[in-house]
Amino acid sequence: MKFVHTAAVLAMLLTVGCRVADRDSGKPANASSSEVAPILTTPDAVDPSSFANPLEARVKHVALDLTVDFDAKRLAGTAALDIDRKPDAKQIILDDNGLEIASVTDGDKKPLEWKVGAKDKNLGTPLTIALRPDTQRILIQYKSASDAGALLWLTPEQTAGKKLPFLFSQGESIENRSWIPTQDSPGIRQSWEATIHVPAGMTAVMSAPRAAEPITQGGESVFSYKMEHGVAPYMIAIAVGDLAFKPLGPRTGVWAEPATLPAAANELADTEKMVAAAEKLYGPYQWGRYDVLVLPPSFPFGGMENPTLTFATPTFIAGDKSLVSLIAHELAHSWSGNLATNATWNDFWLNEGMTTYAERRIVEELYGKKTAEEQVALGIDAMNEAVTEHGGLSGADTRLHLDVKGRHPDEGSSDIAYEKGAAFLRTIEATVGRERFDDWLKGWFNRHQFQPVTSAIFLSDIRQNLVKGDKALDQKLMLDRWVYQPGVPSNMARPPATVFADQDRAATSFAGGSAAPDWSKWTTDERLRFLNRLPRKLTKERLDAVQAAYDLNGTRNMEVRFAWLDLAVGNRYDPAVPSLEQFLESQGRGKFVKPLIKALAKDSQWGRPIATRIYAKARPLYHPLVTRELDELKLG
Ligand SMILES: [Zn+2]
Repeated sequence: MKFVHTAAVLAMLLTVGCRVADRDSGKPANASSSEVAPILTTPDAVDPSSFANPLEARVKHVALDLTVDFDAKRLAGTAALDIDRKPDAKQIILDDNGLEIASVTDGDKKPLEWKVGAKDKNLGTPLTIALRPDTQRILIQYKSASDAGALLWLTPEQTAGKKLPFLFSQGESIENRSWIPTQDSPGIRQSWEATIHVPAGMTAVMSAPRAAEPITQGGESVFSYKMEHGVAPYMIAIAVGDLAFKPLGPRTGVWAEPATLPAAANELADTEKMVAAAEKLYGPYQWGRYDVLVLPPSFPFGGMENPTLTFATPTFIAGDKSLVSLIAHELAHSWSGNLATNATWNDFWLNEGMTTYAERRIVEELYGKKTAEEQVALGIDAMNEAVTEHGGLSGADTRLHLDVKGRHPDEGSSDIAYEKGAAFLRTIEATVGRERFDDWLKGWFNRHQFQPVTSAIFLSDIRQNLVKGDKALDQKLMLDRWVYQPGVPSNMARPPATVFADQDRAATSFAGGSAAPDWSKWTTDERLRFLNRLPRKLTKERLDAVQAAYDLNGTRNMEVRFAWLDLAVGNRYDPAVPSLEQFLESQGRGKFVKPLIKALAKDSQWGRPIATRIYAKARPLYHPLVTRELDELKLG
């Protein structure tokens, strides 16, 4: 073991028997397959959401061999962990949440002592394994629990094709410890490989390149995947089902159920162009292929940036590509989040704020400045709403650098990380000019690729490589104010006031009694702005007029439909209830489902009975990440 100090970052880096990336030279680290990213050792890089003790002993490679059992709703098999350790390390601590462990041995199959500690309701349990002086490899035989938090098991009826069951995982933020026994901390990067056994006729896809062609024999098919780069363990992902593939370009393609594949491929037609646009901005795409997996409607998020294979909700399929900024977002994560990754969930904004900024730049490149400015303006609305929801301008959770200690990290995450983060970067860009900012941003990804990062590293890097000692500029940027203080700094760059001028005028005059405006030429973003700018309390007559003008109860555009249903629920608008039921019982995207069911539940007279009825039917469709929150409403 050796310690390496670098002057370029304030952090002291620890490498455990491995090479450290060259941060001083400013040249790309070009992580090779054998490189293990260092563990950051500054106090702000200590992960409050993990039990791991990486400075004593860390996992550097995970090899899974798992059988997918749809009847038992379990993954069962072995995890082989290669570790780096201090020579005198007595133990390694892994993260566990409900794993049923049968045995723990070393690489020679000699048993190792292990114990599962007390359960923390947010974090799960520590799994402590005693190390012998020569232990370098650990083999764990285990099963995931049938209610593992990362996994959703769908019946055939809950899929689009209705023929075969379906399984998918969602690891971010701390869910993968429910199916992979490892150190589940984003600051502990690990390479990984997996051999997956599924019933013959089903397809397993994962967030890594295929290591071999699938083999089918004896009633099962075997798939193998291998990720040579070290990644944060939340990025290990699996989906199994009736899946088909269609190429979109030389290195891009789409996976989906056969029933969904044509519409998905159509909507994703610009994907190859998107990768090219992103590369122009941020440098070469480092992950080989970029494919999108369009999941059944239960997927709890818009998208999840699993490396090489974005997992996406089918609700972005509007038929006119009007919601594909979602894909721009997930693709941008190939740099921000996947290359340079928040070391702890306190710095989630480094993943999401940078990505939201980059998403709009990709949208600008592909669909023009006006579209991007509209999305920026909608983002500022979302940020302001999040500020209100999180205690106003002095609310602790309106800071970019959060404190999630003692909480589930997801509790701290909100549009602050996404939109205040993006506004911060946009402000820097507007202050120093686009060219200079882009140079810095490209350099940031180069300097930190395949590395964990913190807010302090970000600030140090930007001071060293962009501000370069210009005191007046440093003050003007209000860097520390943006990162460490609540609220929104006064220097925030804004899009032109004219962006939604027509929609805002139309909303005001409609609220005052005018006829509903003709919105046939408006974009989705313009329609959303109009709906969101209507007063939250409207008469039945006004709501009837909106519904009659645009048939919002029947719209296929899920973002527009959500904006409408949100307004309808707030006004106890009965004619929207069938549409609401259909919407909530046909997809499980948390962004849509959680606020609507919560708003209904709060309205004890009108809404709660509706929420109770819908939730009883829809709950099996929702991912544990969503039901964990909604179960607290105690419906039914
Ligand atoms: Zn994101």
